[in-house]
Parts: sequence; C-alpha cells; structure tokens
Amino acid sequence: MNSSKNNSEAPKLFGTSGIRGKVGIEVTPELALGIGRSLSTLLGEGHCIVVGYDSRTSNEMLEKALTAGILEGGCNVLSLGLAPTPLVGYATMKIGADAGVMITASHNPPQDNGLKIWNRNGMAYRAHQERALEKVIHYKTFTNTSWENIGRVEDISRLSSHYITDLLNFIDIKPGLKVVVDCANGAASYISPLLLRKAGCKVITLNSQPDGFFPGRMPEPSDENLGELKEMVKASEADLGIAHDGDADRMVAVDEKGNMAEFDKLLSLVASEIGGRVVTTVDASSTIDLCMDKKDGQVIRTEVGDVHVAEAIEEHKASFGGEPSGTWIHPDFCMCPDGLLSALRVIDLVQKKGPLSQLLKDVPSFPTLRERIDCEESQKDLVMEKVKKKLPNLFEDVIKVDLIDGVRISMKDGNWILIRPSGTEPYLRITLGGKTIQEAQQMMERCKGFLGGLM
Ligand code: MG
Repeated sequence: MNSSKNNSEAPKLFGTSGIRGKVGIEVTPELALGIGRSLSTLLGEGHCIVVGYDSRTSNEMLEKALTAGILEGGCNVLSLGLAPTPLVGYATMKIGADAGVMITASHNPPQDNGLKIWNRNGMAYRAHQERALEKVIHYKTFTNTSWENIGRVEDISRLSSHYITDLLNFIDIKPGLKVVVDCANGAASYISPLLLRKAGCKVITLNSQPDGFFPGRMPEPSDENLGELKEMVKASEADLGIAHDGDADRMVAVDEKGNMAEFDKLLSLVASEIGGRVVTTVDASSTIDLCMDKKDGQVIRTEVGDVHVAEAIEEHKASFGGEPSGTWIHPDFCMCPDGLLSALRVIDLVQKKGPLSQLLKDVPSFPTLRERIDCEESQKDLVMEKVKKKLPNLFEDVIKVDLIDGVRISMKDGNWILIRPSGTEPYLRITLGGKTIQEAQQMMERCKGFLGGLM
C-alpha cells in the first residue's frame, strides 16, 4: 500500500472541532479504543497523554476504552477525571505531556459525545495531525507493546488546584462582585464556582451538579436556554451572570439587568480592552473592526473553529482570539479556549469599569442575526456550490465575496451575509449583519427563501 493511496482513502472522522456524533452510532467504545491505539502508535512507547471528560452518561464507557487503547500501545494515561476542556489543555501544557484528550460533545445534546485532542502547548490538534490518526485507525497499523511495557494510569486530578492558582495569578480580581454562574450541569460544575469564590466573588450557583441528562438546561448557552439565569441575576440583584457550555471552553455573560450580552459586542469589548492584534472568525460582525479601529488595533479573520483561531494567533503573534460564540483563546495563559478565564476577564472589566450593560452600551452596534437551516450531510457540498454561484447576485452593491469559510458577501453599506455548512451538525448556518435590526430581519427572510429554493 503506498502512502498517497492511504491518504486519499482513510474516511474522515474529525470535523471542525474534533470527533462528535451520536453515542452508539458514530461515537462508540470501538472508536475511542481506536483513537487511544492510534495516538499511542504515533507518539511511541513511554509517552504521556492527559485524559479528561465532561458530565455525559457515556463518558466513563468511552474513557475506559480510550485508556485501554493508549495503554496497549505503551503510552501512559494521566487521568483528570471530570474536567472542563481548558483544564485538559492547561494540564497537558503544565505537565509537558505529549497530548491531551477531552471526551465531550461540547454544547451538543445529551445523546451525543465526542473526542478532541490537544497538543503539548494546549492547542487543538491540527487537520494534518487528525488525518494521521484517521489513517492509523483505518489501516489498523497499530503498535502493540509487549507485556512489560504496557502503560500505566496516574491520577492527576490535583492539577485542578494548580489551574485555579495559576488563573488567579494571571488575572488579579478585586473582590466583591455578586455573580450567578450557570454550569449547565456540565464539566465546570464544581470548578467554576470554586474559582469565582476564590477570586473573591459572592457566588450563586445554578445547574452546578454534574448530570449527563442536563436536567437544568441544554448545554448550549443560547439566549433561549438561559431564561433561569437571567431571572436569577435580576432576582438576586447580582452584578453579572456567567454561563458555560457543557465542557466550559465557552462563556457567555448576562448583564446586571438580566439581559444576555450580545455575542459580538462582548467579544469586541474584551478584544479592544486587550488591544493589539486580535483574531476572529468570518462569522463575527463588523463591530469588532469598529472597536479595534478606535484603539489602533488590528483584526485578523480566519475560518470558523477554535483550531483556526489558534493557528492564526500563532502565525500572527496575536494577543487574543475569539469566536462570537464565546469561545475565546488567551494565548498568554494557554492556547486552549478557556471559558473560566474568559469569565475572569469579564468580571475584571466590570470591577474596574462599571456595570456590563453600561459598558456594552458604548460598543457600536451592528445587529447580527444567526439562523440554521436543516441540510443533510450528503447535500451540503451540492447546496454550497449553488450558494457560491448565486448568493453574490441576490443582493445589489456586493463589493466583496469571501470564500475563507463558506460564502461571505459584504455590501457597500457595511451589511454582510455569511452562509456556511455546520462542521458538526446537519445544518447550514446563516449569519448576517445589518445597519438596523429591521434591515437584518429583511435580509434573513430573503436568505431563508433563497436557501429554501436551492434544496
Ligand atoms: Mg465547548
């Protein structure tokens, strides 16, 4: 078998953010075993791999299978147990382990799970590293070590206290803010409230017992899923609400009036506060450009997905990178997106500069709407081909067509539209921005009609 043939034939397992899918269908113990074996094969005997998981019902099943594969190839497992994704990235970096694996489906529904792999600097595996693993799994070119070299498991759950200490040393928070934190019954359920208390906040918890059924709310921290948090912030007269997704690489904030902070505005506020050169994705609105312009900063845009943000941060030596979804990377701390550190950044800002609603009021608004349209995996390429041909002609005054990721058109008046396939779920995503909310709504109706006509 020649290698180029192998390259072209190994089926793709990884999407834009690791492997994700339905448990028992796409994500099985066999797959986890294969990932463990292939990681061990590629790293070689004697190397160390950090493993952590979120609160899903399928996690231990997958962790045991993954661990078996890693040990069989002669690598050692450094086990964190229940841990948010950023702790897996941090532990991998701090210990100088050779890789980290997080078992999570992030914000997906409870019946899903997945695996995401991290490099020793805490940055997600790049596409070529994922392809190498897929090839080993597909061709079963696993290395089995001899009985005396089988790997061992070490418990490193103590690293969570080092993580908290390092975070608090990284950002010096003034005590006193009252914060409601909603952990979605996910991976940050214990650690995020603990961190905020140690930072001197008065903490009220919501959905902060790990539970794979996600009984409090679904793991996606969307406006409609955060009703309880918004109510609680108002009822308790808190200064701020913080919500994480299932694995807490993301954070979204609720202001003191109980309104969820607009994704783009919050990202732009924090980015302009950090200043310098910042990275964001093609689906972020023009707000960040306006904010960074004021501070003589620079915005670099890249494909959607935290690995692309991390790659661009490295390439351009940027000071900060974030997606409007609330997935932010703070490269001076670690290259892994960190929802806990993102929360500390917002708390710090509110402590120093005043109420969040007031801070956001001063951020230029460019109303952004996001919707998703059902589209089967098998149809995505065909429909996107039509979008590429027809979308630029749908609106007048199109001055730029960008194909970095999906199709993004910019109009003369600053309005913009992005249509791209979801990398993890059977949807096409429409993201657009208009000068007014009415204009944005009209554009959204037109785009939905346009896509409906293509399918
Ligand atoms: Mg996540």
